This record gives sequence, C-alpha cells and structure tokens, in this order.
Amino acid sequence: MKRILMLVTGGTIACEASNDGLVPRLSGADMLKGIPGVSSLCDVDALELMNLDSSNLQPEDWQSMARAVAEHYDDYDGFVITHGTDTMAYTSAALHLMLKNLGKPVIITGAQLPLSMPGSDGVFNLRDAFYVACDGEPGVFVVFHGSVIDGARAKKMYTENFAAYASVNAPLAMITARGIEWREHRTVPDKPLELATELETRVCILKLVPGTDPKLLDLVVAAGYKGIIIEGFGAGGVPNDSRGSFLPSIRRALEQGITIVCASQCIFDGVDLSRYPIGVLAARLGALSGGDKTIETLTVRLMQALKVCFTQEEIRTFMERPV
Ligand code: ASP
Repeated sequence: MKRILMLVTGGTIACEASNDGLVPRLSGADMLKGIPGVSSLCDVDALELMNLDSSNLQPEDWQSMARAVAEHYDDYDGFVITHGTDTMAYTSAALHLMLKNLGKPVIITGAQLPLSMPGSDGVFNLRDAFYVACDGEPGVFVVFHGSVIDGARAKKMYTENFAAYASVNAPLAMITARGIEWREHRTVPDKPLELATELETRVCILKLVPGTDPKLLDLVVAAGYKGIIIEGFGAGGVPNDSRGSFLPSIRRALEQGITIVCASQCIFDGVDLSRYPIGVLAARLGALSGGDKTIETLTVRLMQALKVCFTQEEIRTFMERPV
C-alpha cells in the first residue's frame, strides 16, 4: 500500500466556528476521520506544520512546506497538503518552483466549507487529493472540485462556488467515474530532488487603474522594492500618453537596478508587449514581459530570479524560461 504524508497548514478545510469567524483548528487526524475510503487507499501519516488562515502565510511558510517535503521525500510515495484556498495558488506556484526534479506527487487541496460543517466540499477534495497522490504522477498539483491543476497554473476564481479553482493557459486533468483523465503525462526525472527555496521577498505588484499617478511607482522604488510587477491593461501595456506616462518612472527604476515586469490584469492568454506602443515602449526601456504565467507564478519566479541572478540579462533569461 502507498504511503502518503499529509502536511497540515490550515485554511477553511481545517476550520471551526468561533466568535471571530472561522478559525483553523483541526489536526490531521481530526480531518481524516471524516474522509471515507482513505484507509483502504493508502497509509497516511499527518504532520502539522502550521494552522493558519492562508491569508496569514508568508514566503517563509512556503519554504517550510518545501523543506518538509524534501525531509520526508524518501519515506513516502506522495504528499497531500491541506491549505486555505485564498493563497493556495501562491503556495502551489512556490512549491512547483522550489521542488526541482520532483519525482513524486505533491497535492494541495482545501475547501470552501469546513470539514466540521455538514455538506463540506472538503470531504471530496481531500479524498480526491489522496487518490491523485496515490496515482503517482510526479509534480505539484492543486486538486479541487474534481479538477487536477498544474501547481504553476492554478487560479482562485470564486470565493464561494465549490469549483473555486481554474487552470490558466494549460490543460487540466479531471477526476471522473473513469478515474483520473490526464491530458499529458510527465516523466520522472532521473536526477535527485533539489531544493530551490531562496527568495528575495521585496517584490510587489502594482495594479493600475485608468489615471494611476506614475509617482506611485517612484514611491514603491523608494520603499526598497527590488522587483516590481506592473499589472497593466490588456496585453500588458502601461500608459505612455503625456497625461500620465509611466515611461519616465520605469526608466528611473531600471536605472536604479530595479526589475520591472509587465503583467496583465486579464487572467487568460498573457502578455504581448510587441502589439501596441503601450507595450513596445516599456519593453524598449528594458521592462520584461510576464508572458503567459499566472500573476502568482510570476511573483514567486521574480522572487527567485532576484536571489539567484546577478545581472539584468540573467534575470531576463531566468524569467523567460518556461516553468
Ligand atoms: N480564508 C481561508 C484561507 O485561505 C479561505 C479558504 O480556505 O477557503 O485560509
């Protein structure tokens, strides 16, 4: 029988009601009590790493999760991480990027309704997570409402709908009566697992609205941020018109060695800075394109790039590499 390690991190799935609203309190053993069929599928050990609302997670918590997987890697066939849905896409992106040469499944799941409440979607999500973990497909995946989503492609789309997660710019696998219908299979890497947990956390996202004062970018630079993702419009453009051009502020930031990445407020498809002057002029100054990565994956990737690269050219190459 497969051996699976369940890593508990908190989130709604582990919540109980309190005077202050839902608070994550359930242990791994508490959660497993309500999940039929898991004991006939695999042997499970549970490890409580933290019990937090995922909005309270910090990058150092992604590092703890990655280290926990690495530490127990040889002892288990797969890993299930129970997690809040709010920032699950950041964690799944982080683990996808941090666990290099991953040859086993690392499945992240959660719920919109606590397991402690009747009708919780967590029952199915957690059961499915173990099912996918036992399947053996290597990689980091978000399993939610019958979907299996690449960890670097996950996006929370709904705050209440049980189908909370979507796959962005990548096919997803479905869990149906026929089993797990993978659209593509991955090969198990022949190299050992490697941890890439170093992060420069002085990275932020500046979301534009029509009329945003470009001085805001200067203020972010002055606040000490080393990498700034400008979430612009459409295909990733930023205003270049005399009434509010971002180009002078972008130029000043780049001259100070700050990395500027243009991203889109659209969820699907991605950035194309070559299409209009709003993109062409920013790219000509040296702003990078976010490509088709999700904003979560882009954020973690930039945090890594700023730690492991030494020149702007290295950062560009690192950022453009498919993840
Ligand atoms: N606030 C919760 C969390 O992210 C929401 C959830 O888990 O669905 O921890």
